[in-house]
Amino acid sequence: MGTKIAIVNVKEYDSIQDAIVAAIQLVEDSFKFNILDCKNILLKPNLLRATKDACTQPEFVDGTLAYLKQKKIPKETINIGDSPGQINTFASKIAQKVGIYDVVEREGINFIDFEREVPVKVKIEGALRFKECYISKPVIDCDLLIDLPKLKTHGEATITGAIKNYWGIIPGGLKAKTHLLGKTADQFGEVLADNYSWVVKNKPNRLIVYDLHTIMQGAMGPVSGRMKNWNLVLAGTDELALDTVALEIGKYKGLQYVPHLKNAYERGLGIGDLNEIEIVGIPLEEAKKMTPKFKVPGRRMTKLATSITGGIVYRITKRIPTLIKKKCAQCGQCSEICPAMAIEFKKNEYPRFNRDVCISCLCCMEICPQEAIKAKKRGFFGLFHKY
Ligand code: SF4
Ligand code: SF4
Repeated sequence: MGTKIAIVNVKEYDSIQDAIVAAIQLVEDSFKFNILDCKNILLKPNLLRATKDACTQPEFVDGTLAYLKQKKIPKETINIGDSPGQINTFASKIAQKVGIYDVVEREGINFIDFEREVPVKVKIEGALRFKECYISKPVIDCDLLIDLPKLKTHGEATITGAIKNYWGIIPGGLKAKTHLLGKTADQFGEVLADNYSWVVKNKPNRLIVYDLHTIMQGAMGPVSGRMKNWNLVLAGTDELALDTVALEIGKYKGLQYVPHLKNAYERGLGIGDLNEIEIVGIPLEEAKKMTPKFKVPGRRMTKLATSITGGIVYRITKRIPTLIKKKCAQCGQCSEICPAMAIEFKKNEYPRFNRDVCISCLCCMEICPQEAIKAKKRGFFGLFHKY
């Protein structure tokens, strides 16, 4: 067996925190590190927006800290941080709104806003697109990285989970600019896999505690999609294997249609073959029976059809950002973050989108504090556009 993953049913425990401790204990014999030797531990939740649904739940921070406490790890050696990529919004602000900060304060853990730290320029050896990038210094410095992802659908990446959560190690607005390196979903998948390859090569000591307690699905993920209770916690040390198992639990058979997972698998960055994954805790088939089908927006059909029709279906189904004027507060954040400079903004006016240069990264939709931007499929009118 190549790697071990724990699947735990939260309903079998008194609390989510207890289930998390049990999940980690089930895989601790597969750790490639001695946790007692780690002197700089960094927890990396998914803090995207100030809504509980869009973020890793506070219980996952709490449960992971409970495990570290059981191991008598000094709290002074534990940090937690993230970078949501929104202008003027720090992870700590989101953490306060979603309840994570309460846990951090109660446990006396240090919270780090990655944007406030000096970013470190690194080269990514063997990268396909993302050859040079900036990584937040706390990530460079840590000797154990604990990834706390949540499973959600994602407009550009198809899903966000264990691998995509590392996008947050790039500080702030620098993330959005890298979208220019990957203008199509496949290219962006290569960029995400490049970023993941840096983690694999430079952070050998990793633990992943995966929030499958509540998941987000449908076309509005990762911000305001539909929530489903799966009541599961996964734990392991291989992100690709964890994403693979998460999608298998959701009966989503299109792993090859999630570009960053496909790319990471082809490059051997992790284990993506179920035959090489040892499952402990509840059996995979039992987990599959507990959960409804994970509803991922139609990228699979889009990509399949694209390969057949040479782009016609892609042009019809491409999603473009559309303004909902009555919600817009004319703050200009979408214009500031747009990596393609496709949004013109003047004070006290509504933003104007230049479709010719828009790369459909949907960063503007993710960042808008008013949820005033929605992704709209172009439909057959797309046939008449060059972009
Ligand atoms: S669309 Fe959103 S981010 Fe852009 S100006 Fe309006 S409120 Fe601000
Ligand atoms: S307008 Fe929005 S979707 Fe288009 S490139 Fe700019 S941020 Fe991305």
